[in-house]
Amino acid sequence: MPKIIHYRENCIGCDSCVLYAPRYWQIEEDGKSTLTRGVYKDGVGQLDIDDVELPGNIEASMACPVGIIRIQDDSGKNIGRT
Ligand code: SF4
Repeated sequence: MPKIIHYRENCIGCDSCVLYAPRYWQIEEDGKSTLTRGVYKDGVGQLDIDDVELPGNIEASMACPVGIIRIQDDSGKNIGRT
């Protein structure tokens, strides 16, 4: 199952992830985004997704100006922005 990994500490709140995948991302009161269904630990969020959920989130990963959205396939290979 593919996985989204979000290194939230370095988020600059640009809103691009929300624009490309609004069902998965939202901006919080501190101005940074979160994965709406993600589990966060030590500032890093993770969410398992299905293949059909990949396209918008890959776009979000590519659009993130600080490169903090990683997407991995089943084997752990990075398929979003590297
Ligand atoms: S695209 Fe990146 S920097 Fe912009 S809000 Fe989303 S995670 Fe934060």
